Amino acid sequence: MGQLVAGKKALILGVANKRSIAWGIAQALHREGASLWFNYQNERVKDYVAELVAGLGGDIPLTECDVMKPEQVDALFEAVAARWGSLDILVHSLAFAPREALEGEFYTTTLEQWNTALAISAYSLVLCARQAKPLMEKAGGGSIITLTYLGSERAVKSYNVMGVAKAALEASVRYLAADLGPANIRVNAISAGPVKTLAAKGVSGFSSILKVVEEKAPLRRNVTQAEIGNTGLFLASDLASGITGEVIFVDCGYHIVGV
Ligand code: NAD
Repeated sequence: MGQLVAGKKALILGVANKRSIAWGIAQALHREGASLWFNYQNERVKDYVAELVAGLGGDIPLTECDVMKPEQVDALFEAVAARWGSLDILVHSLAFAPREALEGEFYTTTLEQWNTALAISAYSLVLCARQAKPLMEKAGGGSIITLTYLGSERAVKSYNVMGVAKAALEASVRYLAADLGPANIRVNAISAGPVKTLAAKGVSGFSSILKVVEEKAPLRRNVTQAEIGNTGLFLASDLASGITGEVIFVDCGYHIVGV
C-alpha cells in the first residue's frame, strides 16, 4: 500500500459491480491509503456492492442512496458527518438516461427523458457538492471528481441526450470549481474513453464505439478501468493541488484525432 492519499476520507458514489469506473477509482484510493465510504443505488445492486466492499477488508460503511431521493442524500451526508466529521474526496461516478433515449435520433428526445437524464447525470453533482462543502471545509479543502464523455462536445451516434447531460455536467464542474475554490475545494472531471460497463451497455451500438477507438486512438487500444482509477487517484491526491475546473481526457488520445 502506498501513501498518496493516506489519512484522507473518500465517499465513492456509483459502484454497481466490479466493472464500474467508480470501483477502479475506489481500488486505487484504497491502495494508496484512503478510508472509503460507498453508496449503492438500490436493493438491486446492494449485494454486488456489499460483496466487493467486503473484499477490501476492514469496516467500510455502505449506505443506500439514490440521488433522486433527497431524503437519502441528506441521510448519507448526515451519516458521513456523524462518523467522520469531515470529508476529503467525493467521487461522483453515476449517470442515467432512459434506454429509448439512447438509440435512434436525438431530435426525438422527450421532455421527460431530457429531465431524467439531466437531473440524475448533471444536477446530482451540484446537489452532492453542496452537501460535501461543509464537510470538506472542515478538512481544510477537498477534491470532487466526476466522470464525463466526449459525447458532450461531439455528436456521438446514439449518445444523444446523455451528451447534453455531460455538457451540463462539464459546465457545472467549472461553476462549482469557481464557487468552491476559495474553500480549497477542487472540482474536476475525467473524460473517460469507452469502457464496457453496465451503463455503457445501455448505449445502442456501444461495441462499434470500442472498435473505432481501438483502430483510431493514438495508443491503438481502449483505456482500462485501472488507468481511469489511477487518474482519479491523482486528482484526489495533493499531486493535483493546482488543478481545478478541468476536464482531463483518459481515452488513449482518441479525442485529439482528426480525419
Ligand atoms: P456503471 O453502470 O457501473 O455505473 C453507473 C452508476 O450510476 C451505477 O452504480 C448506478 O447505480 C448509478 N446510478 C444511476 N442512477 C442513479 C441514481 N438515481 N442514484 C444513484 N446512483 C445512480 O457504469 P460506469 O460506466 O462505471 O458509469 C460511471 C460514470 O462514468 C457515468 O457518469 C458514466 O456516464 C461515465 N462514463 C462512462 C464511460 C463508459 O464507457 N463506461 C465513459 C465515459 C464516462
